[in-house]
Amino acid sequence: MSIESNLAELRKKIADAAARAGKSPSDITLVAVTKTVDVPTIKEAIDAGVTDIGENYVQDSARKYDSIKCGARWHMIGHLQTNKVKQAVHIFDMIQSVDSLRLAAEIGRRSLEIGKTTKVLVEVNISGEESKTGVTPFEVYSLCEQIAGIEGINLSGLMGIAQFTDDADSVRHSFALLRNLWEKLPEPNRKYLSMGMTSDFEIAVEEGSNMVRIGSAIFGVRTVQYLTK
Ligand SMILES: *Cc1c(COP(=O)(O)O)cnc(C)c1O
Repeated sequence: MSIESNLAELRKKIADAAARAGKSPSDITLVAVTKTVDVPTIKEAIDAGVTDIGENYVQDSARKYDSIKCGARWHMIGHLQTNKVKQAVHIFDMIQSVDSLRLAAEIGRRSLEIGKTTKVLVEVNISGEESKTGVTPFEVYSLCEQIAGIEGINLSGLMGIAQFTDDADSVRHSFALLRNLWEKLPEPNRKYLSMGMTSDFEIAVEEGSNMVRIGSAIFGVRTVQYLTK
């Protein structure tokens, strides 16, 4: 299957799920996740209409960014270490994996240094799995309140990863939990609700996601398994 036909099929499924949620397909932003994907293949995806790219590692992204740059909007979706923030703010339009005041403050500081405002999402651990990053649902509002006023960042919503399971009901439950948290944020801070990957994006969109992060359905199954931390 070509990237183009994978994307066409994916967009159709997203549109169908959006319709079930009473939304138009244009309400849902597709972030193509390109960890382990090489530059020519990313360019092929951009030619096929991809506007947003998601990467997990600053080092990998920096290399790719040099050849692609403004051809797309860049999203950091992996765990970000404070000492990589300086490099990250040059590359990314949005950092979706903010889970501490310290990290948010550093993103703000480094963004201001280069005259930029970086959009950030707070990552919430909705799966309850200990290995996952993100704040607990109980900590979401206090962190959002603490970081909403930081200069150089623009708090724009929440991101979450559901548990890896065939149990669709429990995945749906996790997404509904994140949507409920998101709906209660102040209006300027709830532009994006980033949830849904290859295995669960249809459930996520039905539950209110407006940003899906999808890799394998576009680029094929990854042969190199990256750790998420
Ligand atoms: C890898 C990754 C994705 C995409 O995963 P697929 O199952 O390939 O669609 C989405 N979100 C995050 C945070 C990821 O690390």
